[in-house]
Amino acid sequence: MDLTEEQINRYSRQIVLKEVGGKGQKKLLNSKISLIGLGALGSSAAYYLAAAGVGTLQIIDFDTVEISNLHRQILHFTKDIDSKKTMSATEKLNSLNNDCTIEIINDRITPKNSKELLKDSDFVIEGSDNLPTKMLINDTCINLKIPFTIAGVLRFHGQIITVVPENKTSCYRCVFGDITEGDSSMSCSQAGVIGFVPGVLGCLEANEALKCLLNIGDLLTNKIMYVDLLRNSFDSIEVHRDNKCMACGDDAKDLVEEANYGGLDACNE
Ligand SMILES: [Zn+2]
Repeated sequence: MDLTEEQINRYSRQIVLKEVGGKGQKKLLNSKISLIGLGALGSSAAYYLAAAGVGTLQIIDFDTVEISNLHRQILHFTKDIDSKKTMSATEKLNSLNNDCTIEIINDRITPKNSKELLKDSDFVIEGSDNLPTKMLINDTCINLKIPFTIAGVLRFHGQIITVVPENKTSCYRCVFGDITEGDSSMSCSQAGVIGFVPGVLGCLEANEALKCLLNIGDLLTNKIMYVDLLRNSFDSIEVHRDNKCMACGDDAKDLVEEANYGGLDACNE
């Protein structure tokens, strides 16, 4: 399928890049990216991916918009308070670019539905606010051999890693182990977060997806990038695949069937 004149105009500033070109643009238009969470990371990633002309965005969120979301979750406006985040997001993304088909999943992702929901994705972006979901996305995507990126934010800093299961790159569990039980990590509601941090990290996640789909540049694989906006620093730390890793190691099991995701399994009941 050839690009229309309107598409050539719309995407002209990225088509002119030799790394993208008309061929790359068609690839994006034929790609499907799944986004877990339509909070602050998902807002920033979704806007730019829709704008870039990704053909299908599957958006997965069960939550409704609250007033305390609005300083950072830029897909949602004051009028959207109490609306489903998927509905609020779809309105904005449709209005931005009709080339991008929005598939709405108004549900929490759990071990019971994760494989079914993500199986057709070319890339998965994790943007939830909790570790059990990050672990579930890690394990599901490794099982399905789908490349993905996971980011997290708190206060003025954030971190991001990309995993390409086919290339056996270090996964989220290789780095953080099994930390879903008795998760004592601090959340943004307790510790606070400045809106620009997930804005930047969501852009980095979208950029990882685009590079992976187009097979260009370097991905954030086998490294974690730490972003600190108080210090203006972007530091990458090398990490290694653990061949004893429960998710991706040499004797790995299908964790989606067996692991404890801190109560996520019961969330759909
Ligand atoms: Zn691993």
